[in-house]
Amino acid sequence: MKISHPFYDEHGDKLREECGVFGAINATDASAATALGLHALQHRGQEAVGIVSFDGTTFTARRGLGHVAENFSAPEAIAELPGSMAAGHVRYSTTGSGGLRNVQPLYADLASGGFAVAHNGNISNAGTLRAELVQKGAIFQSTSDTEVIIHLVATSRYPTLRDRLVDALRLVEGAYALIVMTPQGMIACRDPLGIRPLQMGRMGDAVVFASETVAFDVVGAEFERQVEPGEMIEVDFDGNVTSFRPFGENRSRPCIFEHVYFSRPDSIFDGRSVYEARKAIGAQLAIENPCEADLVVPVPDSGVPAAIGYAQQSGLPFELGIIRSHYVGRTFIQPSDTARHSGVKRKHNANRGLVEGKRIVLIDDSIVRGTTSLKIVEMMRDAGAKEIHFRVASPPTAHSCYYGVDTPERSKLLAAQMDVAPMRDFIKADSLAFISIDGLYKAVGQEPRNSGCPQFCDACFTGDYPTPLTDLAGKSDDSAQLPFPVNKVA
Ligand code: SF4
Repeated sequence: MKISHPFYDEHGDKLREECGVFGAINATDASAATALGLHALQHRGQEAVGIVSFDGTTFTARRGLGHVAENFSAPEAIAELPGSMAAGHVRYSTTGSGGLRNVQPLYADLASGGFAVAHNGNISNAGTLRAELVQKGAIFQSTSDTEVIIHLVATSRYPTLRDRLVDALRLVEGAYALIVMTPQGMIACRDPLGIRPLQMGRMGDAVVFASETVAFDVVGAEFERQVEPGEMIEVDFDGNVTSFRPFGENRSRPCIFEHVYFSRPDSIFDGRSVYEARKAIGAQLAIENPCEADLVVPVPDSGVPAAIGYAQQSGLPFELGIIRSHYVGRTFIQPSDTARHSGVKRKHNANRGLVEGKRIVLIDDSIVRGTTSLKIVEMMRDAGAKEIHFRVASPPTAHSCYYGVDTPERSKLLAAQMDVAPMRDFIKADSLAFISIDGLYKAVGQEPRNSGCPQFCDACFTGDYPTPLTDLAGKSDDSAQLPFPVNKVA
């Protein structure tokens, strides 16, 4: 069940970031700051939330299904989580059996002490590792790939929890941004390629970590820097901050889709304002794919910054030709099929007085299955638009993501099934064009894509996965799904 929020995708036809993490150490109100930080990251996961705190002696956990506000706005909820260190997690999941057991942070009492972990990303060899661990007698409590890390830490022979974590992560493939709590302090780390984001900030004497910098704005922290790819940062209760590079220096391959869609526009990602990056993507789209038209109209909300960039570059007026309802609630009974596209129209409605008789450039951030794009084009047509020219602020999404982003299997991706001309016919637009991959790189401040050593993960556009996908070995590309869709309730 998806819930309305200004920053959430309401189309039901988008790639969907699955998690956000936040942690605070040496903070007066660590749990309250964590709840607030998670609230700012709510767009990264809306279906479950958890916080674990540590008061110097005891770890305490509270987890729930639903939004942060539903679970952590009451003072009693925060009071249950004492201590100067806390970490939390929001997640998107398919609601089903399993309930709370997969809700993070996960926690375990290990021989070497308490261990809590919040994970954004996806371990692409989790199934293989899990089978090996089960063979050796491990008993798993959840169906989350993250639990594999806990079992690997538990069985490592190194003396300290930090070294055990390094030992465990050497066996792990895929994407992870982790916030770990131990009785000695907090450890934040990113996978060697830095596929998923993780930022570091300061709030007085406290050190904070978050998936996105917007969380620092909301809790009143100063953004300090990103956690570098392959970096491990350890913070103890005396305020000592130590950085390690246990995996050596690595070329980074952060997820380029953070620029296109996932991150909030008011965040800084990879050293660049997401809002400015999206405007630059729109401008580049206009350079590559100009159009004779009367208006530039965004598909709200995610297409707005790119549409502003397209309009500024092309000199065409930017107008809100689609109005989004901010009050789309949970499911309610639809009146049979009186409205042809009532599902879309509950969320978006064409601004008929504006678009009637006009040639429209419609800007969206991506096309996934194409079903919503079709409905929006038809809605604009029904409202009297004369021509509809669809422009997309990312290259065709033709491959699934295995790094912590919810994507349909490849056979359901429109761009995996057909070229651009048949896609145009499928969505019934007068024309359809996408930004090029090199144009996207240029817009986010990079040289053209270096095919030998790409600067980003762009696998959902190119199929060039930056890590091995061990769990998929031997499966056909069309049906390939990881055995443990990460962080989803089984
Ligand atoms: Fe991001 Fe796409 Fe790579 Fe997934 S495959 S991490 S969505 S760029």
